[in-house]
Amino acid sequence: MTSASTTAPASAPALNTTRSEELFAAAQTLMPGGVSSPVRAFRSVGGQPIFFDRVKGAYAWDVDGNRYVDYIGSWGPAICGHAHPEVIAALHEALDKGTSFGAPCALENTLAELVIEAVPSVEMVRFVNSGTEACMSVLRLIRAFTGREKIIKFEGCYHGHADMFLVKAGSGVATLGLPDSPGVPRSTTANTLTAPYNDLEAVKELFAANAGEIAGVILEPVVGNAGFITPEPGFLEGLRELTKEHGALLVFDEVMTGFRISYGGAQARFGVTPDLTTMGKVIGGGLPVGAYGGRADIMAMVAPAGPMYQAGTLSGNPLAMTAGIKTLELLKQPGTYERLETITKRLSDGIQQGARDAGLPITGGSISAMFGFFLCEGPVRNFEDAKAADTVRFGRLHRAMLERGFYLAPSAFEAGFTSLAHSDADIDATIAAFRESFAAIA
Ligand SMILES: *Cc1c(COP(=O)(O)O)cnc(C)c1O
Repeated sequence: MTSASTTAPASAPALNTTRSEELFAAAQTLMPGGVSSPVRAFRSVGGQPIFFDRVKGAYAWDVDGNRYVDYIGSWGPAICGHAHPEVIAALHEALDKGTSFGAPCALENTLAELVIEAVPSVEMVRFVNSGTEACMSVLRLIRAFTGREKIIKFEGCYHGHADMFLVKAGSGVATLGLPDSPGVPRSTTANTLTAPYNDLEAVKELFAANAGEIAGVILEPVVGNAGFITPEPGFLEGLRELTKEHGALLVFDEVMTGFRISYGGAQARFGVTPDLTTMGKVIGGGLPVGAYGGRADIMAMVAPAGPMYQAGTLSGNPLAMTAGIKTLELLKQPGTYERLETITKRLSDGIQQGARDAGLPITGGSISAMFGFFLCEGPVRNFEDAKAADTVRFGRLHRAMLERGFYLAPSAFEAGFTSLAHSDADIDATIAAFRESFAAIA
């Protein structure tokens, strides 16, 4: 490869997105913002969203016939690659037996056994239909179990869109517990306390100021929803100590990191066991699933074993269970996480070297099949630091990569995901495209 400093950046062929544009124009008259989930609309990177037609392995094809190497993987589930033949075959078989039973099925036992065996904190599990549902249910559970109402979350961490979690950053807003979204009653967020990520002192102060009132602490053990931010040594351990000391529960939201950071999630990787864990994404293998689980004595509170009500018409449905089981079976095979770690680190190193060679500030990294970078000097320890990243330049980078056939999350504040389907050649091509794109936007 030639050095970016001596060669004019290779320009990308024009991307034809005519059909995507037509569909998006129509979609905007049919659905708010033209999408079913906000980040998909490309608002923060500019330009128009791409409508996908089909996905397979590491690739996505849009409605205009363009192919992209995909680093979103449906926002996490596609860790074995999109439409893995074994997952699809298992789904075909399950489909013939019906799509939903509304009655217990053996597949639930199988997926529960796999999850319990893999995730250190989980002794019992309840299946739901999304990560949002898992997080809102676990919050009800920690309040029911402790008889306390306040919770601590971290600025920039995302736990789905339930009212109680829609308190983000901004010290004054956070301290007062003001709703960040219209429609969220102040009374709902008044008990949501926030602290900066990686700041144990702030958590200590909250415990001191709210003695005997805090039900628990919930966090992403590795942050992926404020960009990619890792826990500093001692942070997770410190939260484990503090919650124990104050009779509060520790919840790891592993909806993103579960079965991605390692087979046992971030808790297995870092050796810190929370009381409860939420999951989603990977455990549904691309179908709608969430789950929460943890200590058996706490899970015994959940109806019908106990008094805490939580239910779901489609929960534990045979299709979602089947896709989850097959995905975990694939991930369980030897060498899986070594492979993911190797390609992701190579990609991350290549991205950072590419930016530096183009004279651009960058910081970032990877753990297992999750990576991220910020276009700023760093270090980025929390959401406040992350806000220093150059989001305008990220928008241009996103476009430059898209034009070259590489699909990154359309936000400077989302982690990237690799899969077992990404080949060495895909990674090489991606690094080369980053080098060109950095040169083009420098
Ligand atoms: C995606 C995500 C959620 C929400 O899950 P949905 O299935 O989108 O409702 C919750 N927590 C974390 C950490 C997530 O990444």
